[in-house]
Amino acid sequence: MELDSLYQEVILDHYKHPQHKGLSPTFSAQVSHVNTSCGDEIILNIILEDDVITSLTWEGQGCSISQASVSMMTDLLTGKSLEESETIVKSFSELMASKGTSAGDPEILEDAVVFAGVSKFPGRVKCSLLGWMAFKDASIQAQAQ
Ligand code: ZN
Repeated sequence: MELDSLYQEVILDHYKHPQHKGLSPTFSAQVSHVNTSCGDEIILNIILEDDVITSLTWEGQGCSISQASVSMMTDLLTGKSLEESETIVKSFSELMASKGTSAGDPEILEDAVVFAGVSKFPGRVKCSLLGWMAFKDASIQAQAQ
């Protein structure tokens, strides 16, 4: 897999220095997701207050793509409203479905556009989406509380 070296650097930086890692003691919902094709695992805690995501924390293990993606996702979505988070998740899902044809919208996705190159590798798309799918699940469960 060859990625643009700058993009690769950003991914490795999040992998080595993960953001929001370490589960919060309390949560509105907790979910556990695995990507069996690669062996990636994450547990995600969400705290929702008045439709605002006030905390997203996680624990996990797996490849650099999966772990860096969760790190970036929690960074991006913490403090956002549910409505804003939907726009961001949709934009990321579209980017990962683009098979390398989209560069992503940096105004919505910020650093997460670095995953644009990963969308060319079908085997790694699931790795990069793991955290985002867990977030979708957790936000639905938190709203049902
Ligand atoms: Zn993986």
